[in-house]
Amino acid sequence: MLRSTTRYRIAALDPRAHLFEVSCTVDDPDRDGQRFRLPTWIPGSYLIREFARHFIDVRAQSAGEPVSIVKETKDVWRTSPCTGPITVTARIYAYDLSVRAAYLDRTRGFFNGTAMFLCPEGRAENPCEVEILAPADTETQWRIATALPRAGAPPYGFGLYRAASYEELIDHPVEMADFSLVTFTAGSVPHDIAVSGRHRGDVERLARDLARVCQWQCDLFAGAPDARAPFDRYVFLVNVVGDGYGGLEHRSSTSLICKRDELPQPGITAVSEDYRTLLGLASHEYFHSWNVKRIKPAAFVPYDLSRESYTTQLWAFEGFTSYYDDLALVRSGVIDVKSYLELVGRTITTVLRNPGRERQSVAESSHDAWIKYYRQDENTPNAVVSYYAKGALIGLALDLTLRRCGRSLDDIMRALWQRYGQTAVGVPEEAIAALACEIAGVDLREFFARYVEGTDDPPLAELLRDVGVSLHRRAAEGAKDRGGSPGHDDAQPRCWLGAKLAPGADVKLAHVYIGGPAHEAGLAPNDVIIALDGLKVTSDAIDKMLTTHRAGDAIAVHAFRRDELFTTRLALAPAPRDTAWLELDAEAGTITRAARASWLDVAE
Ligand SMILES: [Zn+2]
Repeated sequence: MLRSTTRYRIAALDPRAHLFEVSCTVDDPDRDGQRFRLPTWIPGSYLIREFARHFIDVRAQSAGEPVSIVKETKDVWRTSPCTGPITVTARIYAYDLSVRAAYLDRTRGFFNGTAMFLCPEGRAENPCEVEILAPADTETQWRIATALPRAGAPPYGFGLYRAASYEELIDHPVEMADFSLVTFTAGSVPHDIAVSGRHRGDVERLARDLARVCQWQCDLFAGAPDARAPFDRYVFLVNVVGDGYGGLEHRSSTSLICKRDELPQPGITAVSEDYRTLLGLASHEYFHSWNVKRIKPAAFVPYDLSRESYTTQLWAFEGFTSYYDDLALVRSGVIDVKSYLELVGRTITTVLRNPGRERQSVAESSHDAWIKYYRQDENTPNAVVSYYAKGALIGLALDLTLRRCGRSLDDIMRALWQRYGQTAVGVPEEAIAALACEIAGVDLREFFARYVEGTDDPPLAELLRDVGVSLHRRAAEGAKDRGGSPGHDDAQPRCWLGAKLAPGADVKLAHVYIGGPAHEAGLAPNDVIIALDGLKVTSDAIDKMLTTHRAGDAIAVHAFRRDELFTTRLALAPAPRDTAWLELDAEAGTITRAARASWLDVAE
């Protein structure tokens, strides 16, 4: 059957009012009335976002005559019966700076198709064309960056693009701006980096470094050097802002938001902590090109964008991706081993500081992402485990466990790619555990029962010893201490409040940890502490105050809950040893050093 093409047109109608106008034309509409549906969520971000809430108005016409259109549900419109081609046109408000929706002002336009393009019911498999019109009212001349295949538009230009299906159409975000552009080759295909926003970064260096990381990832999945990428081209859309962080994966591109300071600075060759963050983010989203965009949970094949899609496997799709994002940096030689071990120490610290890991498994966290991980509140640290952070540690633990059997997590990723990615078959819920047992040749079911289905911490200290790395723990040295380094050997033992402070000058409690001193004293999230021990307290001074007291001291607390002043007594406890750092074991023998060299792909 020859399928008719669904034709879209998108115009930056009014950048000052942040309005796009988008139309969709169906040549052979359903004779009983054509339904049009907008997604409620975007793949990769597991929250019902109700993109239709930004549709200002929707109208329909056929052969120049208006056709009535009614809204059936929050995300579905239906036209009255009509025989000829029908066009539905919507005006859409776009002022969301995140990577998940759409944005338009006079400096820049950006959209995900999930927030813009209505899907004509019964025609999701039809080919699509989209004409992207140049706006009149912008500050500068804009170009276009997208992985959408061109169908007449000049390179980086406005005009006609195409997609093989609706699912493909909405998986290519589009950036329109006066961006800086740099191109490199990896996996034998061109890669673009389009950088929007004001910056003075060294984008050539970013391209050189990402070329190594991307080629390494292509080679990992192929199991051979100089391997080809699984797409014809790839686009990094980078939006640079003063302060922000985020990324979203797509099949042949990614949208990233980063801080201006995270771009490499001209003339500097070291990898700063900020730049390392950007490299890690780009590496993460690129790894998703395989792990979640092509190797998918069965629940996502195909995506049902009208409602939540439940899987217990995000600990592998996000967790393994989080494990490999930084590992790819060290294995491709972009960062050194010391820097990598610092990152692993920080991930361990993140997990240790989160009492929610004792109450929720990563399988449960994956399943409930829609209502818990993506809807965080004051109690999240007590109730929710991150399938990213703990999932990354499970990836590390599984990798080191498999290495004891002469295999590695790389073998799992390649098997997943061959069996599920290249065949486009969804990964069943229990398949990864079964695959690990098969590849290891030993029964690993207890590993998955304890660390994935259960809430046990993976035995990292013991496993890291195999590769000549020692895991240490100490108390945090103040609110800014994220772990990963040995710290300063303070003779004075530190106390803690058992609470995390909200940003700002006030001592406002963002989170109160179950079982900690603040919890025992009856303090609650959003309480504002004004005095400790009869002395006025500020967020800057609180770290110092905590070092001058000793564990066991009971101190008077004056605090506000809403507008009501109250007092309580708080018994200070020693700060928990929840800050991890890793160190190379200088005494490691030949076999251990060889295992380490194999793990990190570095010389012994
Ligand atoms: Zn991710």
